[in-house]
Order: sequence, then structure tokens, then C-alpha cells
Amino acid sequence: MTDCEKLSVFSKILEFRTVSAQPGSSFEMAPFLQLHDYLQEAFPAVHKNFQREAVNKGSLLYIMPGSNPSLKPIMLTAHLDVVPAEEGEKWPHHPFRGIIENGRVWGRGSVDYKIGVSGMLQACEDILNEGFQPDRSILLAFGHDEETGGMNGAAEIVRLLRERNIQLSSVLDEGGYIYSLPWLREDVAVIGLAEKGYLTLRLTAGGEQGHASVPGIRTAAGALGECLSSLEKNQMSVRLSEPVKRMFKATKHLLNDSLREEFVSLSLSEMTNIIEKWPIGNAFIRTTTATTMLHGSSRENILPAEVTALVNFRPVPGDHSKDIVKHVKEIAFPFSVEVEFEDVRKVFEPSSEASTETDDYRSIREAVEEIWPGLAVAPGIFPAATDSRHYGQIADNVYRFVPAHLGESGLSVLHSEGESVSVEDYLNAVEFYTLYIKKMCGGK
Ligand SMILES: [Zn+2]
Repeated sequence: MTDCEKLSVFSKILEFRTVSAQPGSSFEMAPFLQLHDYLQEAFPAVHKNFQREAVNKGSLLYIMPGSNPSLKPIMLTAHLDVVPAEEGEKWPHHPFRGIIENGRVWGRGSVDYKIGVSGMLQACEDILNEGFQPDRSILLAFGHDEETGGMNGAAEIVRLLRERNIQLSSVLDEGGYIYSLPWLREDVAVIGLAEKGYLTLRLTAGGEQGHASVPGIRTAAGALGECLSSLEKNQMSVRLSEPVKRMFKATKHLLNDSLREEFVSLSLSEMTNIIEKWPIGNAFIRTTTATTMLHGSSRENILPAEVTALVNFRPVPGDHSKDIVKHVKEIAFPFSVEVEFEDVRKVFEPSSEASTETDDYRSIREAVEEIWPGLAVAPGIFPAATDSRHYGQIADNVYRFVPAHLGESGLSVLHSEGESVSVEDYLNAVEFYTLYIKKMCGGK
């Protein structure tokens, strides 16, 4: 296939409106099934050589057995679902037309994470057409509900693989990128060795319902507001995980000149002082605190009996949900604010840390270095959560890397209006997956 043909397949994949379930609106399975059909048409060699099964209707699992059963399989994973997008004024191009213009492919899912779906399948198609026979089994897993927790997709795939006693050497998922970090003068490819956890706490201040014309001096909303403000002023302490320490060390020489002058010794504590000023830097080194939803009275002239706030935390490796609850309760106590989990089923502790002393890690690293000579490569963590919170259960190691430049907007590009990837990055992504699979499965 020519590059042009590969791009038009990717562009077509972006046209399917595989939007994840949204609260209050019905979930549409049809676009997922249509996409499944299109994948069969676009990647005939994969569909001839891999065993393919639909899981819970919307997700897909592909397995190609290797010639040497003593080698543990590798899995590459992406997700078919995308967050919603409306054709609005801020989208430079329609979010579901896969428009290619000015050297970029535009559309919802172009980075998160149909670049993976399309890139991985294309790589497999290409190597099969070359006659490559893997010695190690290759699995591809594409969930259909990653954006809403992966309970129907990834969790079910894990259950199936467990039933079949399949333990993986590693999983390659999203969660590391080629970042333009604001404190560095050059880009860096960050391979995520771990990901942060997830929990939401409900903070409630009680009051007395009454007429707004005769409020007490102190209201429930006032107490909750003070509590939230105190929570922001008293953040969880900095905690440097091993991968982040290594990321700092590996990129020290790329620090912006102005910062180098300001910070002479460039010790780790100086580095954290520098980078916590940027939201992405702060997210690497600390459990983040984000107040996201507030609720009080439903009428402007009635004092509420209760005021609530939902606060979302992303625990850094090393912090545990119980540490966060303790911290928040201590802060909330003087304001008589109650603290509880919003939904215990949606509490995820930070992941364990993958090893860099494996062939899998070395292969990812080498593939990056071959495609982008001179680009700094460093281990790190992913400040959000992925389907790997499930896949981690059946893999010796989980690595997180998407071969795409995020540019100055950083991670915000993932769910933004105007999500796009450069043509060059897409073609390099296909090359990256090809090299990685060959290195791991008996190629040179
Ligand atoms: Zn994603």
C-alpha cells in the first residue's frame, strides 16, 4: 500500500462516530459495528491471519499465534471509542470527516486513540504482506468504552484471556507521547511506566433550608467555599516516583537556558520547584486536586439545606486513596464539611511501575530512536488513566507510548476541538508499530 492509501484508510476510520456512552443519552452501538466491518475490508491480510472476535459486541480482540509457544505473547492495545464532538465554530474541520489538510489529519480520535487502532492494524497488514511470520504471539485489543472506564471492553477482554490462561509479556497502550514540555527546549519522547490513580470525593456542608431574605451570618455555601479554598492551598505533598526522577535526570541537559541560570545545582528538589508551576509539571509530581462539580439550591431565593462539591483526585504512584481521604478530612473538619467517596467502584489506585530492564522496553526505545534520531527518550508516568488499569492484571509489564507529537497544547489536544495529528506522525506511527513488532517477534 502507498502512503496515500494508508492515510485514506486512517481518514476513513475517523469518520465513524464511535462516541462513548454519555450520561443522559442513549449509547449507539451501530457505528462500532460499521467500523468493525470496515476494518475487515481495509485490512484483509490481518483478517486472514489473525483470529478475531468481538467482545461484548463493541470491542475487538485479535490473536495471531506465534511459531514458538514458549515465548510470552505481546499485546498492543488502543480503543475504538472517542469522546463526543459537536460540529461547532471552534472545530477548524468537521470532527467526523477525517479531513486531511495542511499536512494534518483532523478529527475526533486522531490522537485519542484511532492512531493506535489504525496504525497497529496497518503495521500488521504490512508485515504480513511482506511474508513475516512472528515467533511470538501477537494480540491486538481494541476496547469500546475506555473513555468511560473500560468495564465492558478491557475488563471483559482481561476476563477472557484469564480464562484461557494467557499471561502477556507486556502491553503497549497509550499514555506516553512526544511532549513539548514548557521547561525544556527540545521535545522528549516519554514512555509511561506507570499511570496515576483516580478517585472522586463528595464534600457536603449542611445548613438550614430557609428564605434567602433572612440568612444566618454563616451559610453552608460559605463553609464549603472556605473548605475548597483551603484544599487548594494545602495540596498533597510532592511525591517523586522513580520514573519521574528518571525523566528529570534524562532531560536535565535540555532545560531552558533561563531556568538553568536561575537554578544552579539542578537538584531534584530544584527541578520540582521549577516544574510544579506548570499544570503538566504539577501533574507529574503530585496527587492533583480538581473541584469539578458544585451543587446548592435550585432557586435563587432559597437557602439550601445542603451544598455539595465533587473533587476529583489523581493519585501519583506512592499515594493511596486512603491517604487522600485522610488529608481531605483533616482539612474539612474545622468547616464541618463531610467527606465521602462519590462512587467506590470508581476508585483506582495508581498502577505499579513497569521495568526498563526488558526486551519490550528496549524495543520501544530503539524503535523511537530509529525513527526520530536524536530525540531524547525518557521513562515517565501518565497523569491520567487508561484501559491498562485492567490489562495490568494479565501482563508482566505495561508500557504507555503513542508515537505522536502533542505540540504546545500538550495533553489538552486529546479531547480538544481541533484534535489532529500530522501526516508525518501517522506514517511514522505505522513504522513504529512495525519496528516494535518485528523486534519483539523474531524480526531484525
Ligand atoms: Zn484514550
